[in-house]
Amino acid sequence: MLSPTLHNLDNHLVRRLASLFVILAACASAPPPTSPYTLILGIAQDGGYPQAGCNRPDCIAAWRNPKLRQRVASLAIVDPQSAQRWVIDATPDFPSQLATLDDAAPRGTALLDGILLTHAHIGHYLGLAHLGREVLGAHSIKVYAMPRMREFLQHNGPWDQLVRLKNIEIVPIEDAVPFALNERITVTPLRVPHRDEYSETVGFIVRGPSRSILWLPDIDKWEKWTTPLESVLAQVDVAYIDGTFYDATELPGRDLSEIPHPLMTETLTRLANSPLLAKVRFIHLNQSNPLLRERRAGVVIAKDGERRGL
Ligand SMILES: [Zn+2]
Ligand SMILES: [Zn+2]
Repeated sequence: MLSPTLHNLDNHLVRRLASLFVILAACASAPPPTSPYTLILGIAQDGGYPQAGCNRPDCIAAWRNPKLRQRVASLAIVDPQSAQRWVIDATPDFPSQLATLDDAAPRGTALLDGILLTHAHIGHYLGLAHLGREVLGAHSIKVYAMPRMREFLQHNGPWDQLVRLKNIEIVPIEDAVPFALNERITVTPLRVPHRDEYSETVGFIVRGPSRSILWLPDIDKWEKWTTPLESVLAQVDVAYIDGTFYDATELPGRDLSEIPHPLMTETLTRLANSPLLAKVRFIHLNQSNPLLRERRAGVVIAKDGERRGL
C-alpha cells in the first residue's frame, strides 16, 4: 500500500496526465488551417509605441516592459495550401514581425513571397533595409509598388542598391487594377489622399476564396477621398482603417492640419447609424491615442496577432 504522501502524488500525476490527454486530443481534432488568412503583425502608427524620446509615465512603463509596446502596423497574408506568405508594408519592426510570421506560418521555398507597399512614409518601407547586403542579402523578393513608389526606390539610396543587387524585384501595380498573388488571392490597390511627398498612397483590398478585407493605414480625411468610405466598406467583410488619432485634443502644441488623418471620433460619427460600422477595426494608432492603452465602448481596435480567414 502507498504511503499517504505517495498516494497524493500518484493522484496528482493521474490528474496531470488526464488534462494533458484532453489538451492533446483537442489539438489533434483541430484541423490545420488550409484556407488563406490574414494575420496582424502590428497596429501602431509609423513611430510604434512608445515612440523615440517618449518619457511619459506610460512610455517609461512600456520601455521597461516589452509586453506594453505595440509594433508598427503591418498585415501578413498567408496561404497554408501553398506555404506562401506576403506582408503589407516593411516596417521598422520588420525583424520581429518576420519572426512572428515564421512562428505562425513556417516559410516555404522563399523568405517571403512578396511585400506590398502602401507608401513612402517611414513606418511603411524602412524595413526593406533588412533585405540588403548588411543583413539578409535576400534574392529577388517581390516588392509590389505603385508608380511613384517604384521611382522612389529605384532612384534613391540605399533602396536603389536593393534593386541593383536584385535583393528585391519591383512588381508594378496600378490604382484600382486587381492583381493575383496566387490562384486563390487577389489584391486591389486603392489610391487615397495623403501627404504624398515621396510617393502616392494606397490601401489594399485583399480577396480570398470566401472573404475580403480592407487594409488602409493612412488617409488624410474621408471627405477628401473621391470614393465614399461606405462604398468600400460595403465591398469587404472586415475593414482595418486609419485610427491614428482619437480626437483633436490629444496633440497639444502640434497643428493637426499638418498631419491630417480622420479622427476616430469623426469616423465613428460618420458611421454611427450604419451597420457598416461593425466591420471597422482601427489600426495605425499614434502614441498619443488613448485607445492604445484603454478600451472604450463601441470602438474596436485591431490586435497584434489576430487572424481573419479569407
Ligand atoms: Zn503611416
Ligand atoms: Zn503616411
